[in-house]
Parts: sequence; C-alpha cells; structure tokens
Amino acid sequence: MIFSTLLGKIKGVTHGFGTRFDAVPLNGHLLQQVHGKKIIVIRRGEECRGVLQYAPTNEPKADAWITNASSIVLGIKTADCVPILMYDPIQKVVAAVHAGWKGTSFNISGETVKMMREEFYCKPSDIIAAIGPAVGFCCYEVEDDVVSLFKKNYGPNPALVVKGEKKGKYFLNTQGVNRRQLLEGGLLPEKIETIFLCTHCRADLLHSVRRDGDEAGRQVSWVSLIQQ
Ligand SMILES: [Zn+2]
Repeated sequence: MIFSTLLGKIKGVTHGFGTRFDAVPLNGHLLQQVHGKKIIVIRRGEECRGVLQYAPTNEPKADAWITNASSIVLGIKTADCVPILMYDPIQKVVAAVHAGWKGTSFNISGETVKMMREEFYCKPSDIIAAIGPAVGFCCYEVEDDVVSLFKKNYGPNPALVVKGEKKGKYFLNTQGVNRRQLLEGGLLPEKIETIFLCTHCRADLLHSVRRDGDEAGRQVSWVSLIQQ
C-alpha cells in the first residue's frame, strides 16, 4: 500500500493507494468505471440505500464519487489511469476519482471539486488532494486524437504535453494535467500531493494495461472518513 504524506498526517481520514499486492479493503465499494462524466454523491443518512443499491453485483456506473458518510469506503480501480483521493477536513467530505485520458479531457477532477462545493459547501482552499500512481510522462505515448483534446488548454507545455520522436506521437502527463485542473478548481498548490510512481515502469509494484494488456490486474485505491 502506498500512502500520501499529506492525507496521512491529517486526522479524520484514512486512505491508501493499492499496489498489485493489495486487495479491496474491508467494506470497500467500487464503481463500474466507464470513462464517463458521472459523479455519484452519497449523503450521510442515505448510505444504506446507497450501499445496498451499490452491492458488488450492481456497482454504479460512474467515475468519481463523494460522500460525507463515515460508513462508506470509496474505492477506485486503476491500472494506468490516475486515481485521485480528496478530503475536506472542514466539511468532512471525501472523494475518489478515476481519471483516464477521457475523464481528464472532461476535467473530472475539477468537476468533482465543483460538486463538493455545490453539494457540501466545501471551500476548494480547504481540500487536500493526493494524485496516485499512474502511467507516467515517461511512458504515456499518445497520438493526435488524444493530444488534440489537451492542446488547446494545456499544450504545448513541456510539463504537460510534449512531442515524441516519432511523427504524430506525443507524451501526455495525465497526473500533471489533473493537478492543473485541481488548481484551476481552487485548490492550493501546497495541498496537492503527486505520488510520482509510473505504473508502466514499476512492474514490480503496479499493474499496467499498457505493459500487460487488457488482462492486467487493477490496483484499488480508497478513502474513507474516520468516525469522530
Ligand atoms: Zn514510466
């Protein structure tokens, strides 16, 4: 298990970024991730309906979720996509986001912050975020179709999108774009941590679809409020 220093040192929240050696945590719930825009909100007092409705055989189709209920462990599966865990220690709200290139192109991180604001009155400047292991800038080669979605807002930018050596190939920094989107959403730079581990480079530790194909496993990352 990999932990964020920022989230790890603050009271009221527990979390982990799974590796190939970690299972789904006890009481952990997962989404049927579809690379879409849907964000699920589960309010305290509605967990029962939520949890039952979202039994393992009937996982909700969404790519991010938010709750203020301490009884729910929000899980996210990834292999190369970016897992993002957030916590607002003032409103006591947690969120977990799955951001692949599609979700990142929809600004799903920023949309999740927006929903935390609208549904739970979170102030973005209070929110702490950890961006977990994903396919790194070193290894994430993409083509025009993908990079065209990012060029307008984020490229060319040596920190986010660069041209590869081969014609029509680029490298995209999905962790970096998500960080940028969180900043644009109002988070403070000192409250965003990026865990710089590349799923593609670290076969010893992490699953990667790019490296191992569709049969690759998934690591589960999770976040939960601690009942106080
Ligand atoms: Zn790499």
